[in-house]
Amino acid sequence: MTITDAGEDCATARYQPPFDRPGRFYRGHLHTHSTRSDGALPPEAVVETYQQQGYDFLALTDHFLDSFGFPITDTRALRSSDFTMQLGAELHAPRTELGMPWHIIAVGLPLDFAPPAADETGPALASRAAASGAFVGLAHPAWYTLTPNDARSVAAADAIEVYNAGTAQWNDRGDAWYLCDLLLASGAAAFACQRGYFSSLRKQGVALLAALETLFNGQPLYPSFA
Ligand SMILES: [Zn+2]
Ligand SMILES: [Zn+2]
Repeated sequence: MTITDAGEDCATARYQPPFDRPGRFYRGHLHTHSTRSDGALPPEAVVETYQQQGYDFLALTDHFLDSFGFPITDTRALRSSDFTMQLGAELHAPRTELGMPWHIIAVGLPLDFAPPAADETGPALASRAAASGAFVGLAHPAWYTLTPNDARSVAAADAIEVYNAGTAQWNDRGDAWYLCDLLLASGAAAFACQRGYFSSLRKQGVALLAALETLFNGQPLYPSFA
């Protein structure tokens, strides 16, 4: 391929976003909070808001902290024939390489997922969530300066949240493509989730998507995670 060809390929790709391709696309959100933790709206109102915006699926991932009673917000009753909910939470444990508490999204948790033990690390907690069947994502890495060593230590991670609108508003650190780039540069695989972009997913994530695809008549599914 010549340089000119490569440039043309880039230009062509730029003007052919995936959502312009044939097929039915479903819109979802896998990192959201309600008043069960620090969110602004009760679960029912959060769901109604997303439905009004044309979403097809949603996971409420309230903070799984003692101060909130370790909530796994039960939203099963809010499922309908054209909108589905996945049970999840944002998990926290001490400590990242720079001494911050972990922020780990887990979607597909059982309602009886046990609170973390005092000595349970973030990677161990992520592994336990994955073992329970959950899709695991590293939330807003730039917001709390997650390092490549941190990311590599979470063997159970299915994805990296590469854009988070909330942290973009709070401290202008919504973008986390840097972490994908650093992981790829070191030879590790990186899996990205972003609102509006499709994701590459490993085993548990694929299982989650397969379940959602079944709900939506086997059509291709491109989740949002921001
Ligand atoms: Zn969050
Ligand atoms: Zn967080």
